[in-house]
Amino acid sequence: ARQLVWFRSDLRTLDHPALYQARQQGEVLAAFVITPAQWQQHGWGALKTAFVLHNLAALQQQLQTLNIPLKILQLQTFAETPAALLQLAQQHQVSNLLFNDEYEWNEQQRDQQVEQVFLSSGIAVQRFTDQLLLPPGSLLTGKGEAYSVFTPFWRRWLQALPTAKLHPLPEPQPQHPGQLTTDPLPVLPQHPALHLWPAGQAAALQRLQDFSGQRLMAYQQQRDFPALDGTSSLSPWLAVGALSVRQCLAAALHVSHGQISDKNTGPGCWVSELVWREFYRNLLLAFPRLSRGRTFKPETERLPWRSLNNSKVQRDLQAWQSGQTGFPLVDAAMRQLLATGWMHNRLRMLTAMFLSKHLLIDWRVGEAFFMQHLVDGDLASNNGGWQWAASTGTDAVPYFRLFNPYSQSQKFDPQGDFIRNWLPELAHLDHKAIHQPPVDKMDLFGSSNYPQPIVDLKMARDRVMAAFESLRSSP
Ligand code: FAD
Repeated sequence: ARQLVWFRSDLRTLDHPALYQARQQGEVLAAFVITPAQWQQHGWGALKTAFVLHNLAALQQQLQTLNIPLKILQLQTFAETPAALLQLAQQHQVSNLLFNDEYEWNEQQRDQQVEQVFLSSGIAVQRFTDQLLLPPGSLLTGKGEAYSVFTPFWRRWLQALPTAKLHPLPEPQPQHPGQLTTDPLPVLPQHPALHLWPAGQAAALQRLQDFSGQRLMAYQQQRDFPALDGTSSLSPWLAVGALSVRQCLAAALHVSHGQISDKNTGPGCWVSELVWREFYRNLLLAFPRLSRGRTFKPETERLPWRSLNNSKVQRDLQAWQSGQTGFPLVDAAMRQLLATGWMHNRLRMLTAMFLSKHLLIDWRVGEAFFMQHLVDGDLASNNGGWQWAASTGTDAVPYFRLFNPYSQSQKFDPQGDFIRNWLPELAHLDHKAIHQPPVDKMDLFGSSNYPQPIVDLKMARDRVMAAFESLRSSP
């Protein structure tokens, strides 16, 4: 019987639950649905879209070595997907549809509709857990509720781990070449930063191997210093599913000889970051309002963000977006994002807090800007990170805790190397001056092209405190 495997954010052939099972059951036909209008609606930028399509091309090649044809449906939105996918299935006498679950609200709605139309047409549907190590919603508090605090979630997760089946699956056996042919792909879009992110599972595995063989043991000591190559930078491949989280866990278990419960070790700390990813995905599932732009903490909906209709606020926003705030580490981070499509985690926290707290600009504006520029853009992690920074989320940083951009810079870029790399106009400053460039009285007419700080930190602090305190008094 013919099996249809619908690929989505799982663009690989290794450790692919739906593909593996389908091949056990019979002859496999693969499909991918291109929905540019939907992607645009979800705020994907050009780099992420290009990265997805290049990974699709790599998947197509890999499937060819298995004699699995790949059909491409070019639609606009999710709304058209159920009918088009059903038509494809009927045209090719498919008996089963198999896919790995996704957790965003629109994706879930689409998948329910697909399941309904298939079932009512007599085609069986099999769904798999893939993005998460443990089944979504399986870890609940003593009260039977979803966790909204990370640390207890992580502890519970460690307890549950030994009973879970987590060995990565092999690639399925090749099948006999059949009658069906692979569809041509659309012309692949180009992007100046794409060369930094080679597409496909082979590139992803190579990077995982390099990281786990060399840098994983030192991860806990190095991960907070953006000038070091201390983190894996695997997030883009995890986001499109060219790499699975089980492959990551297996590498960490291998290097640590199974010891991952201590966060003070490299592997233990790294796995806890993978658990943050799980945590935010579980939240998205438990609280659909997160997919719809709402705050996790309802009372923070009333925060008085500065209005974007004001030209000063627009100027502040543009300075943040272009890396021209006059705060060197913030600006270096934003320029890293613009140039590469990726930003170090420490700096995502810093820049997100700078926008939402120091500039008092709605975190959703920053969330959308990140989504537009990140190659690893992912609703659950991006939303989780922004709401954490803005103190509107779960397990949020207390609203009165603000990262000081200067002390963060002295602490996490002590030599100024990261700043120098991204802000050549400050490269002449020594490691003391570079964090807070001296205001040059002779330079009022701008012979140095680095801007003065756009905001006074003391004023900013008072302003955001007042904003949060206003929540207590108003009804
Ligand atoms: P490593 O440190 O090597 O960690 C390994 C993997 O664990 C990452 O690839 C990622 O999949 C996961 N991970 C690590 N940290 C986190 C975290 N804090 N939350 C969730 N998952 C994590 N991550 C995204 O994948 N996509 C996003 O759109 C995204 N937006 C963010 C926005 C903000 C404001 C913040 C504060 C964080 C965001 N993150 C996002 C989380 C984190 O910054 C990135 O996952 C990480 O920097 C990726 O680098 P890495 O692969 O080297 O991570």
